[in-house]
This record gives sequence, C-alpha cells and structure tokens, in this order.
Amino acid sequence: MKTIFYYFSLIMFLFMQDAMAQTKIIAHRGFWDTSGSAQNSIAALLKADSIGCYGSEFDVWMAGDGELVVNHDASYKGVKMDKATVADINKLKLANGEPMPTLTQYFEAAKKTNIKLILELKKLSSVKLETEAVEKIVALAKSYGLDHRIEYISFSKHATEEFIRLAPKGTAIFYLNGNLNPQQLKEMGCAGPDYNLSVFKKHPNWIEECHQLGMKVNVWTVNKESDMEWCINHKIDFITTDKPVLLQHLIASQQ
Ligand code: MG
Repeated sequence: MKTIFYYFSLIMFLFMQDAMAQTKIIAHRGFWDTSGSAQNSIAALLKADSIGCYGSEFDVWMAGDGELVVNHDASYKGVKMDKATVADINKLKLANGEPMPTLTQYFEAAKKTNIKLILELKKLSSVKLETEAVEKIVALAKSYGLDHRIEYISFSKHATEEFIRLAPKGTAIFYLNGNLNPQQLKEMGCAGPDYNLSVFKKHPNWIEECHQLGMKVNVWTVNKESDMEWCINHKIDFITTDKPVLLQHLIASQQ
C-alpha cells in the first residue's frame, strides 16, 4: 500500500524535475546594459553574478605577446588584438572607464563570484595559435581553481576540438558555428550546440534530437520577448541574452 510519504515524495520529485528543466540565463558579454557597466568588463561579470544569472559569457583573444585578453572584436580603438602587448591592452579603457581586462585579471575577479563562466575563444589566425591559446586557457582556469565552473564555446571547430581534448573530463564545451547537426556534435564530444536562434527556427527538431542524445541546447543572442517565449516553449536549456532582467521576469511570470 502506498503511503502519504510515497505521494509526497513523488510530487517533490516531479517538482524538482520541473525546476531542473527550467531555462537558464546566460548574460551575453556579461550584464552590460546597465549603469556603470560595459561589454566584457569585470563590472559586467560581477553584475551578472549579482542578479543571479546562471552564466556570464565573455570573449577571449590572444594578444601578440601571447597574453590572453577579454574583448570581442579583432581590434579596439585602433589597437589590433593579435599585434598588441599586455601594456597596450592595459592602456585601453572600456565604455565604463575600466581598463580592458586580461584573462588573468578577469579570473582573479571571477574567484569572488559563483556564476558559471562561459568563455568564448575567438577564431585566431592559425590552428597553431588556437591550440596554444586553448592550452593556456585551460591551464589558467585550473590554476585559479575555476575549472569546475567554466564552460567553453567557439566558432572555430579546431578550437572546440582542442577544448574537448584538453579541458578536464566533464567540462561542457559547445560549438557556435551552426553548421553541424546533433549527431555530428555528439560524435565530436560536444555538450551540445550553442547556435544562433535562426538555426533552431530552421531546424526546431534539432532541439529534441539533442536532448535524446543527452546533450544540452544553448541559443544566442535572444533579446526579443517573443523569441524568448519561443525558446522557453521549445525547451531550450540556455538562452544567451543582452537582456537578462527581461528574461528573468518572463521566466518568473510563467511559473
Ligand atoms: Mg561571444
């Protein structure tokens, strides 16, 4: 005979399953669209953490002297990332007045947070440099004790494969470029796709296929409420957005 405890446990289990399946929010280049912040700044990382996002995404280049740098574009205010030195980088100011951070400075700040770090390695000029960058990033994350809460993403297939080869087992690594199907991603060893919304609108069946293969699904960069609703309804696991507060309200209103 089933006891009250049995039914209570069942309800709790179903509730937990539902809670665990909830769409998670990744702040694109940190939570930058707010006072005192800037894209890819340390402030944006801390602000994404302070509002309780699952993750904070940021972009990494390797400078000419081998230093790892947090920035989105190949150049900033006329300084080319792949030709710059760490001294050049530290002179650059972000929109909030903060110096452009090196990855070491960024990790130093990240130690004081609990948020997942979603590190995008930009496509570099050669596979050799990408391998060198991946080796340095993985070693640096380990030295800061951050390897348990870092995830890696890249448009470069080579860099993605190198993260899979070199990061500790169990590290989630997603591929950004949108051109591989779920089976190909699985065979590569990815945690799943991290694709532009247009890819999933074109192939909505890929979401279910990924889940059946035991992978997670991430989408970028979703800023419109109607698109956020589409992603939630299609059970996408992670939404990368410039509007994390809007998405938080939307998720809360659906509960
Ligand atoms: Mg990025």
